[in-house]
Amino acid sequence: MSTISKLCQLNGGCMGCCGHDFISGAKIKEAIRRNTREFELLNPVSEQEFLNFMNRKNRSDLLNGVCRNLIEKKGRIFCPLHPSLHGGKDLREGHCDINHLCKTAQEFAGWDEEKKKKFTDFVHDKKLDNISYSIKMDDNSLLKEFKSYQ
Ligand code: SF4
Repeated sequence: MSTISKLCQLNGGCMGCCGHDFISGAKIKEAIRRNTREFELLNPVSEQEFLNFMNRKNRSDLLNGVCRNLIEKKGRIFCPLHPSLHGGKDLREGHCDINHLCKTAQEFAGWDEEKKKKFTDFVHDKKLDNISYSIKMDDNSLLKEFKSYQ
């Protein structure tokens, strides 16, 4: 079973752990656009077709630092291999670190409900788009700023 945090779904979805060495928000968006186009062309339905999509590139072959599986639909960024879309079966196994939790999510998990709410309100008040949110989760800057007010 993969690890999940409420923070992964906040702000239109976080993709901070779906790649590394991000170049810029614009380059991330371009990569997601290309992935989405390739996904739509393949239009996978069966499990094997989803795996074919995943295996069209090696897992180390990132695009602008972004995993080739990350796509977007109606403004939400998500992984089409996630178990929530496959009746609980995790198609990402062996492809990425499904148990990874970023530093912010790790610390968040240990907070009481009041502090968790303070953090999610703090994030909401920032009105970030999902890419900016992801970058700031990945580089821990939201966590650092939040802690500086505590
Ligand atoms: S396989 Fe999915 S969850 Fe894993 S890094 Fe790629 S997009 Fe993210």
